[in-house]
Amino acid sequence: MYDIIIRNCSLLMPDFSVKENQDILIKDSVIAQIRDTAETGEAKETIDGKGKLAMPGLIDGHTHTCQQLLRGRTANEYPMIWTRFLVPFESNLTPEDCYYSARLACLEMIKSGTTSFAESGSTHMEDVAEAVIQSGMRAAIARSTMDMGTAIPDSMKDSAENNIRRTKDLYQKYQGAGEGRIDIWFAIRQVMTCSPDLIREIGVEAKRLKTGIHAHLCEHRDEVSFCLQHYQKRPAAFLDEMGVLGPNLLTAHNVMLSEKDIDLLGSRQVKLIHCPRANYANHGFPKAPRILQNGISLGLGCDGAARSNLSLFAEMKQLLYGTIAYWGLPIFDPDVIFARDLLTMATVGGAKALQHEDLLGTLEAGKKADLITINLMQPHLTPTHNLLNTLVDCCSGHDVTDSVINGKIVMKERNVLTIDEEETVKECSKRIKEIAVRAGIEA
Ligand SMILES: [Zn+2]
Repeated sequence: MYDIIIRNCSLLMPDFSVKENQDILIKDSVIAQIRDTAETGEAKETIDGKGKLAMPGLIDGHTHTCQQLLRGRTANEYPMIWTRFLVPFESNLTPEDCYYSARLACLEMIKSGTTSFAESGSTHMEDVAEAVIQSGMRAAIARSTMDMGTAIPDSMKDSAENNIRRTKDLYQKYQGAGEGRIDIWFAIRQVMTCSPDLIREIGVEAKRLKTGIHAHLCEHRDEVSFCLQHYQKRPAAFLDEMGVLGPNLLTAHNVMLSEKDIDLLGSRQVKLIHCPRANYANHGFPKAPRILQNGISLGLGCDGAARSNLSLFAEMKQLLYGTIAYWGLPIFDPDVIFARDLLTMATVGGAKALQHEDLLGTLEAGKKADLITINLMQPHLTPTHNLLNTLVDCCSGHDVTDSVINGKIVMKERNVLTIDEEETVKECSKRIKEIAVRAGIEA
């Protein structure tokens, strides 16, 4: 007796070929077997896969669930968005705000085909963890860590010692929670707001607990300039000196990278994440082709809902066209990035970034049952000469029909089963106004 059988679907294979008429048999949170469609096999629940493509759930390598209620507020605003909006907004969030904000973010991610994410951290992370556990999603959750910086109010800063202790408390309470779906990580918010002592200590503690570190890195010029002024090193070299560049480090953005920075990050097996829409809007075009050519682990992130949405299908399209326009067209070469690269980033790249390459990122027997189905029987998707190109060029989050995470159905025929959608949207609509007034950022 299986928990779930997805019958007669098309299947996106680990080598990105597509196999027709497949059954996926799921038991005890993992894919027990994938086989040609057969009449045999019983399960508690069945998903009809006819006309659907089953593919690995998408993995968002960098997001901020606590910025969900900033939606629509930061477009076309002058710098610094960070000091003018993010800091007053975040410092005015209550624990309940963070809980509902995370619920809404999970709801949006599930409905867009995302099954796992890396949360880069705000303050009330217990409440975020509770919301994620209830949603059924998988996440690496960090707690925002800052101990310096003139633009940051004291309420958002804490001593290096307290910062470490608070993350360790969170780790004690939530590591492995939600049937193993939750990991607790350390965070280095960014080099301008974390002292060398704090960064060094995070490196030591993360190694001791065998957990990850989530950092914003080389996001904008100010950060590079700050590092050069204060430490006479570029950010990547500075973090290397602090002992934190390693396979357990996830860096978000990676726009202002020199050739030497790329070589250094690659040699230390750091997991890189681009956030194309956030990058284009604020800081420039990341060197995706160069990073991919070097075989460095690269994933995608939406960077929260403040400006855009949480759809990785949208991020794939943006990186595809932005990369062709910026890196390809000046040299008359459209072949600078392929659909396959983008799908790899949104699945395997995310799995590597979350330190779970052995469990996530592809659909194979023995791996975790984290998958989505896409309704292919729609005029914008079928017929096609090349399904990979069509998935990246034409598919959106709205085409995701079902979502299974850790062997449980969290969305069936677009109904999310774990979170009350109407209640969550209603509660968040009330809170978005109250927070704006408290933070003094009304539109
Ligand atoms: Zn971010």
